[in-house]
Amino acid sequence: DPADYDDNNIFAKILRGEIPSHRIYEDAHTIAFMDVMPQAPGHVLVVPKPASRNILDADPATLAHAISVVQKVAIAVKDVFDADGVFIAQFNEPAAGQTVFHLHFHVIPRHEGAALKP
Ligand code: 5GP
Repeated sequence: DPADYDDNNIFAKILRGEIPSHRIYEDAHTIAFMDVMPQAPGHVLVVPKPASRNILDADPATLAHAISVVQKVAIAVKDVFDADGVFIAQFNEPAAGQTVFHLHFHVIPRHEGAALKP
């Protein structure tokens, strides 16, 4: 529910420029920056700018654009990190592992035989 959106979540602060991030992409609707605790080298978070808690309350047009940015980022990190594959994930609500309550997508380069951090 949009009423469950907290303006003081960490990605809202990053979007407002109140805390720093290593941005690798930005357009009118979406930003992408490096995850501060990467699961593997090259772990990027793709974050739509409009306020939504997660995919459950997101606007479909926002989602459609965001997934096109996820694709661009996936292609870029696969190349830059010379990866064998790319893992894409997205969590909704604490029961599913969500810890930051502004919609975001994880894009993580993967190498054959390399374990994800626990
Ligand atoms: P999730 O909510 O999907 O479980 O994960 C949130 C992700 O945000 C985690 O991978 C975590 O490392 C990342 N994260 C949390 N705080 C910050 C921050 O201040 N800056 C950046 N760049 N990433 C963060």
